[in-house]
Order: sequence, then C-alpha cells, then structure tokens
Amino acid sequence: MAVEMSYAADGRLTFGAVSCACGLTHQQPQVDVYVDAGILDRLPTYVARRGFGKRCVLVADNITYPLAGEACAQLLTAAGYHVTPCVIQRGEAMEPDERACGEVLLTIQDDTDFLISVGSGSLTDTTRINAERCGLPFVCVGTAPSMDGYTSAIAPLLLRGAKIHRKGKCPEIIVCDLDILRSAPKDMVVAGVGDVLGKYIALADWKIGSVINDEIYCSACGEMVESALKKLLDNTAGIRDQTEDGIRALIEALLLSGMTVMIIGHTRAVASIEHNIAHLWEMRKLARGETPPSHGASVGVATLMVWPLFERFAREGFLHKPDIPALLAGRISGADRAAWLKHAYGEEAASAIMAENPSDFLADEEHARRIERAVTHYDNIRAVINAMPPFDVIRSAMEMLGAPMTPAQVSIDDELANLSMRAGKDYRTRYTLFKLLDECGLLERYLA
Ligand SMILES: [Zn+2]
Ligand SMILES: [Zn+2]
Repeated sequence: MAVEMSYAADGRLTFGAVSCACGLTHQQPQVDVYVDAGILDRLPTYVARRGFGKRCVLVADNITYPLAGEACAQLLTAAGYHVTPCVIQRGEAMEPDERACGEVLLTIQDDTDFLISVGSGSLTDTTRINAERCGLPFVCVGTAPSMDGYTSAIAPLLLRGAKIHRKGKCPEIIVCDLDILRSAPKDMVVAGVGDVLGKYIALADWKIGSVINDEIYCSACGEMVESALKKLLDNTAGIRDQTEDGIRALIEALLLSGMTVMIIGHTRAVASIEHNIAHLWEMRKLARGETPPSHGASVGVATLMVWPLFERFAREGFLHKPDIPALLAGRISGADRAAWLKHAYGEEAASAIMAENPSDFLADEEHARRIERAVTHYDNIRAVINAMPPFDVIRSAMEMLGAPMTPAQVSIDDELANLSMRAGKDYRTRYTLFKLLDECGLLERYLA
C-alpha cells in the first residue's frame, strides 16, 4: 500500500509517509487517531501528550453524556483537569443549529484551553465550528460509526433551518473506543456503511474524470480508500452483529476516507454524485420543514440508485456513435439551465451553485471535446467500471445489514428521487459518469 498503516500498542493508528508520484501535494495527517476496545480510560493520557492545558469544555447531549460524556468528565477530573460540561438537552436528536452552537459558545470562558466533543456528526460539527472560531484545540470522542466527518475541517450546520457549510477545525485527537461504538443504534451503523459504500462511486467518477479531463488521480489516496472498502465488504457479517472486528473495519473505513481529505485537501476520493443526491434530498426536506434522512442512509440509497447506470454504460457503451452536431444543437440554453437549477435546488441554492461553479455551462468546443474523448477512451472508462465490485455484492451487503434500500424507505418521494437523478450532476463542477451520460445524450434514455 502507498500509505503504510498500523496500530501502536496504545491503540494509536500510525501512518507512514505518503509515497505517491501523482503530482499533487500530499500533507501528512497531523491528527492523533486512537481506535481500540476499552481505550476511553486512556483519554487523559492521550490529551496530556498534546499539552493543551487543564481547562476544557466537554460538549455532549442528553444521549451521549450518560453514554460516555460523564465517564470522560470523571476521568479527566481525576487526572487534574477542570471540566465544564455543556450538555445539550433535546428530545430525540440534537441538530447542529445556531442554538446548539450558541450553547457551546456561551459555555466557553476566557480561560478555556480546549474543547471535547462526545458524539457523532452533529455534536462534532457543533464543537468544530466553536473550536475554529475560538482558536481552541479540539478532542473528538466518537460514539457511533455513522459518517465520515470525524476528520473533516468543514462543519455542515443549520442556520434558520437552512443548511450551511462553515470552515471548522479538524480535531487534534480522535478517540474511538470500539466498546462504545459497538453499542451504537443499528440505524447509525448502517448509515456509516452507506456513507462508505458511496466511495466506490466517488472513486470511479474520479478515475473517469482523469480519463476525460486529465484530472490528477491520487493513487495513494485511492488505494487507502479501496483497501478500507475491501476490508469493510469482507466484514459485513461482523458489522451486522456489531462485533469488535466488524465495527473496527467500519470506523477504519470512515476515518481513512476522511484522511484523504487531509492528505490532498479536497473531497474527490469520498464524495461524488451519490453525495450530491443526498445533499439535494436534505436541502429539499429542510425547505419543506421536514426532517431529512440521516446523511449516511441517504448516501447508501443514492449509491444503490446510481450504481446500475455505471454497469449499463460498461455493458452497452454508446451503441451508436454520438452525433456531436445534433447534441450541440439540442443543448439547453444558459437561461434554461438557470431556470432548471432554480426548479431543482430552489432560488438561493441555485444561485450559490452557479456562482461557485462558473465554468459549468460548457462552451460548444469543450462539450464536443469531452464527447470525443469519451468515445475514443471508452475502453478505459469501461475498465474503471468493471473494476468496481458487482452491483449485486453491494445490494446484498446492504440487504443483509437491513439498511434502507429505496428512496421511500428514507421518506423520499418518487418525484424528489427522480428529480435528484437528473439534477444531482449539476450540484458541482466535479466530473461524473452522470455528466458524461448527459453530455453524450444518454442520461434521459437511462432514466426513462
Ligand atoms: Zn458522506
Ligand atoms: Zn497522490
């Protein structure tokens, strides 16, 4: 493997230097990651190693505080730390919104030295933004293998009910005690699996992007994610039964995927069309005042929806050579595209998407070039797709885990599901097989 990875005796995941000749700049991850059973007791030792000081705010909610937060507070207090708990009290699940962020901010004092989050996505993100804004180090104690964001430096948050993304801080220390993670609710575990399986699509799209647009594909990051995915697929029964080995394979895949973002500074290895679709569902549900499905559950369902289109393109190819003049003549106009994006994403999000991706409305020459490249390099694209595991393997794994498999099972109606299959490709500039199918006039036929 291009990045050697092993466990030290204290549960620390250690990485060798990234050796890769892809041409991108690789940053060595600076986060201390600890994964093992029964390691929560060592939290004070892990923290002491980084020398953050003695006063901390511990962020948890009414679910994670009794689960692990209280134990963390006691361990640290016994080791001489001054811990101020910030326990966010909500009904079912807390949201990373302005109220939660404000509670953390107002608990932080002038003499606070560092923050600790005890939870999964929402609690980590709520703490992450405060760590960034207050310039404080941050320790993350994970409680569920439900998403790949532990290592992230971006905080997805809610402001007045709408989704926003803000720069956050990557934790200095991540502690994943497998005994705690194993007790996570099943729906959080299967959400984590869904988030991870989506990486197969992300990697395939990245490789296809390198074929069509000469994007640099980082083989070190690609291998890191691929080997974690393989380990995950080899351990699905253990994940279902929430055994130590199964949950270790899952949290490793989530953490290692996230690490690629630290190494190359972008999310190409971890998110593509399946994440775009999940984001669109979330935005639309929030806009309707409804609770969106969990991130990983959405990504898992979206992965199952898009995967068959990859296999179909590898099987059928172009059938007929694309008629480039006719495709160019039939293109959507810039004005119609803007109207379409507003229809799909809503006024505000559509404006943001267009502003962030100004080159997305292709010039005719560029559109023609991409089609020609897809035709002349079809064998390379087919090879990328054929290297993916068969769809049946993925579908069976999800089925065996009892994961949601259809949009309806995550409360997404047919209309939104259909819209997302057409609009997902427009969420970002990032090249995807869906862009290829659309630009070559195949997408509507595939979705008919
Ligand atoms: Zn994700
Ligand atoms: Zn590389």
